[in-house]
Amino acid sequence: MATLGNPKNTIEVLQKYGFNFQKKFGQNFLIDTRILEGIIDAAQITKDDFVLEIGPGIGTMTQYLCESAREVVAVEIDKNLIPILADTLSAYDNVEVINEDILKVDIKALAEERNHGKPIKVVANLPYYITTPIIMGLFESHVPIDSITIMVQKEVADRMQEGPGSKEYGALSLAVQYYANPKIVLNVPPSCFMPQPKVGSAVIRLERHAQPPVQVENEQLMFQLIRASFNQRRKTLANGLNNFQGLHLDKETIQKCIEELGVPATIRGEALSLEQFAKLSNIVGKYL
Ligand code: SAM
Repeated sequence: MATLGNPKNTIEVLQKYGFNFQKKFGQNFLIDTRILEGIIDAAQITKDDFVLEIGPGIGTMTQYLCESAREVVAVEIDKNLIPILADTLSAYDNVEVINEDILKVDIKALAEERNHGKPIKVVANLPYYITTPIIMGLFESHVPIDSITIMVQKEVADRMQEGPGSKEYGALSLAVQYYANPKIVLNVPPSCFMPQPKVGSAVIRLERHAQPPVQVENEQLMFQLIRASFNQRRKTLANGLNNFQGLHLDKETIQKCIEELGVPATIRGEALSLEQFAKLSNIVGKYL
């Protein structure tokens, strides 16, 4: 039975092992059963599912995952947590803990090996210092994914849902929306964690699109253009693209591409929608 959502049990485990929280690993453990149940519900896990958990901590959410999924692989960087996990997960025979940095794991190979290449579900209370590389890594490496249900900083969750016109809109919003349909399912206050983080958190579910919502001939080029535009947010789109080292186009060609897109020459990149970035990259691609 899952027991660690109860703070008393969590404290008991931490004391038994003399565990010291490591700030550098973004360790804030969940101590609220209502939130844990909410995450499991939102992730829609069934006994057919293979679940990847990133950063199991002492195994609080892992216990819930083991009870609802067919198989769970949990990747934890902190070696001090490994003996604790062996203890707290000893009742389950459908879980494997890997002591590794998630950014170094070949998740595509893992999905291939353990789930025969079928889409996996990712569930995590993420370490906030590497939220963006983890999400981008999952999408860009084309891991077969059904959905990603994750706890992130509230501000980052908001950013993933934003569109043009908001100051939160950025490269992460566009990348997430290209690959998935983002939906915030829970807002979570600092009091639900031990120790308490300084920021509010939210659980967001990213459901992978069966087909991307826009047609792009060269995904890599589109993301280069997006990065170039948001690296220099205050500049016009034309200047942003001009200053971008990776793009070997002269000023006139860039102007021509922007004209062809049908937007004013003075527009800023941050005003473009995903559809417009897709169209722009298809236009730029013709001149490369
Ligand atoms: N899942 C647990 C919970 O909800 O109580 C812990 C969540 S805590 C916010 C983040 C966890 O990710 C910690 O256990 C931390 O050690 C682990 N972690 C941090 N960086 C990591 C990385 N690069 N790879 C794998 N795990 C990491």
